[in-house]
Amino acid sequence: MQRPLQQPLRLSRRTVLRAFVGAGAGVLLTACGGDDLDPFATDRQPTAPPSGNGDVADEAVVEGATAQEAVSQASEQAAPLAELPEPLVYIIPSPVSQGQTVLVLIEAPGAEEASLSWQGQAFSLLQSDGRFVGFFGIDANSPAGPQSLGVAVWGPRGEQLLWQETVIEITSVEWTIDNIQIDGPNAALLEPAIRQADESTRLPFQTRLTPQLHWLGVFDPPSDGQITALYGEQRSFNGGPIEEYHTGIDFGGETGSSVNAANSGIVSWAGRTRRRGNGIIVDHGAGVFTGYYHLSEVLQTAGAVVEQGDLIARMGATGLATGPHLHWEVVVRGITVNPLPWLRLLEFPDPHQELNPVNALTSTNLATG
Ligand SMILES: [Zn+2]
Repeated sequence: MQRPLQQPLRLSRRTVLRAFVGAGAGVLLTACGGDDLDPFATDRQPTAPPSGNGDVADEAVVEGATAQEAVSQASEQAAPLAELPEPLVYIIPSPVSQGQTVLVLIEAPGAEEASLSWQGQAFSLLQSDGRFVGFFGIDANSPAGPQSLGVAVWGPRGEQLLWQETVIEITSVEWTIDNIQIDGPNAALLEPAIRQADESTRLPFQTRLTPQLHWLGVFDPPSDGQITALYGEQRSFNGGPIEEYHTGIDFGGETGSSVNAANSGIVSWAGRTRRRGNGIIVDHGAGVFTGYYHLSEVLQTAGAVVEQGDLIARMGATGLATGPHLHWEVVVRGITVNPLPWLRLLEFPDPHQELNPVNALTSTNLATG
């Protein structure tokens, strides 16, 4: 990014905090407020430094005239503010591969709110055990390469304590390719319009943002059956082009065998679509959902609170299925991710893990443009 011709005035964070208090809300930050129907949809948009120069984690940048006025008012009016410690930001893992879940952890004692800016969306993190925690998913077909992630932290008076922009490197995975033959009446279910209708039915029930972590610990496999298909497999049907990837993992078994909640949560949807057959979605909070499909029977209704291991459904072959099996998927902030890490069959970013401050992002590894 080009540095603007007119150099903005730079102030230390402490000066900016005082300027903010002196000048009143709105000078340096977008004012927050409004109705909070979606507790995660933050009204506070992270304010990136306009210079695009990455070495400003501990500073904020404001236009010269406004800042000078603000500082002058601040010196007359501001009450002294207690200095809050520098927030520490952890992005786990890094780099991240296609299909992986990313965890952002922020240690910011005394801070009020934190948010992420990722792929054009800004969303709040939730506070858990004195930390700010947020997950997001990388799509299996997301382009490999660097992607920018912004992190912002606000203090109790609405002051922005941190704006940090960093690069997440997405590494590619060699997904397998599978050619699947679908004959008979089920072939009609391959129509893209049917898939789209199916997706739009489920979408609202797996993209909410419940501001709690309903689960603790490792997710359990939802079935005793063997895993028969993996996440990410690129699929062609009846010799056609590859049009989609396998969005979850499949467990084989007999019709009627138990399907259990992989972890605790609240049932957000129970119903039927043509392509997925009978299904149930559990909201685990923090934008994390699990979905269970092709069921012969659904045993819970929307709104039910389920505990890890509860019987919620029975395996079947409804919808587009070549035989009885459970299709199980994990959705993180609207993206279907690889479920294996959630079962700890691959490395998983644990929100309760010990953090080593040496690993925190610092101004030396910020994005530079
Ligand atoms: Zn499947």
